[in-house]
Amino acid sequence: MTNKIPKPILPGATIGVLGSGQLGRMFALAARSLGYRIVIYSPECAPPAGPVADKEYVGEYEDLQKIQQFAREVQVVTFEFENVPSLTTKAAAEIVPVRPDGEVLHITQHRLREKTFLQSNGFPVTPFRRIDSLEDLQRAARELGLPAVLKTASFGYDGKGQVKIKSAVELPAAFEALKGQEGIYEAFVNFEKELSVVAARTASGEFSAFPVFENGHANHILDVTFAPARIEPRLAKEAANLAAGILEKLNVVGLLTVEMFLTKDGKILVNELAPRTHNSGHLTIDACVTSQFEQQVRAVCGLPLGSTEIRKPAAMANLLGHLWQDGEPNWAAALRDPEVKLHLYGKTQARVGRKMGHLTATGNTIEEAVARVVKAREALVSK
Ligand code: AMP
Repeated sequence: MTNKIPKPILPGATIGVLGSGQLGRMFALAARSLGYRIVIYSPECAPPAGPVADKEYVGEYEDLQKIQQFAREVQVVTFEFENVPSLTTKAAAEIVPVRPDGEVLHITQHRLREKTFLQSNGFPVTPFRRIDSLEDLQRAARELGLPAVLKTASFGYDGKGQVKIKSAVELPAAFEALKGQEGIYEAFVNFEKELSVVAARTASGEFSAFPVFENGHANHILDVTFAPARIEPRLAKEAANLAAGILEKLNVVGLLTVEMFLTKDGKILVNELAPRTHNSGHLTIDACVTSQFEQQVRAVCGLPLGSTEIRKPAAMANLLGHLWQDGEPNWAAALRDPEVKLHLYGKTQARVGRKMGHLTATGNTIEEAVARVVKAREALVSK
């Protein structure tokens, strides 16, 4: 049987995006520069992607009639936010292609389905158990040991909905914290590094991955990413191969990010999948031949993928709301380094922990790029 490759969706066409945050904003900017029109759909009022979209729908994801009205205006639907109900993607898919498709969303928006998919297809993950009762939790602790991380199966991100359990006395309180939601118990991974691979695949099966990113977190939120990761070439290859296998098995048309742990004994484990662009990939805008956002456009529209080559070592630092605590940050001070680039997401409310923007710096070495970006971020709050 031959797979029919759909016709490419060419510049001039309209792309629909579910979600309207900063990932949607940067996607829209990339799509517009390639000559596409953008229509966004989300429940948010005045979202980051609004001012750069050609048209904005404000509606609930459950409003299937409105979703279909939106879908009729576009040639393809993609997303920047994966927690969209299955019925929403189904409704859109009755009208136009949804890329990646609803099945990819269904698997990746639920940690148990995701880890079960990975494990049953031979991709390495930390041992895990489904938790519906305190008895399940006690059994999991006996079988997999402690410490462990207990997470809600759905709707968790940036460490929300998860607790680390160090000893058996903490089990009842950890179970209470699930508040009746389905949980997943994961054996704690003693990791050396956290890595991510952002990769794209087209309907014809063309695959391309960006260099491996190395990620540092603060308070469970991504803090600084740099690339290429400081790992042996053998491990970088293994990480890219894992991503290729996962995108193929899931039959992804579009972009998908694989978050990974490198354990202290040199093994790579998959932590999480995100069927979209990723915060750790922001440095591709300034450091790679093709940005992750342009790559998403190319992949969902069936254009040839762009080169993911990194021109220079690069580092990205997130700008969170607390930087606004004492007034507007000192932008000029941060930009005094000519290799530093500023990206702001157009958010007007600077809440603590909210991602407001990021800085990227390039350098002759990774160390230099990281030092530059960290120094620039410090300069934002200098008087
Ligand atoms: P997640 O929401 O699954 O991406 O988890 C957020 C962060 O919590 C990760 O980036 C890790 O730093 C940490 N974490 C998650 N799961 C585990 C685990 N099984 N073992 C150790 N650390 C973890």
